[in-house]
Amino acid sequence: MPCLMIFSASQYCGFDGTSFNGWQQLSVDRILPGKQGGKYELGNTITACNACNTITSRMTFEPGQYREEIIERKKAHVAERRPFTQE
Ligand SMILES: [Zn+2]
Repeated sequence: MPCLMIFSASQYCGFDGTSFNGWQQLSVDRILPGKQGGKYELGNTITACNACNTITSRMTFEPGQYREEIIERKKAHVAERRPFTQE
């Protein structure tokens, strides 16, 4: 169950840096979305707060995009939608 390792290893949202102070806030985001074939595996997951997970859930990506590119696009998308969370 690799997801459990991610849960305990990361204390911050990978997109906006929100720190997790409660289990209910934490979710696992698939970097390449499930509808595009992304799986729940270590190379394709990142911890995210529920808000970021929801905001990024409808994004689509070109096949073969790198993990880092997708994360940067999601970060930018989150920053647009939730500017109040940025410093
Ligand atoms: Zn977040």
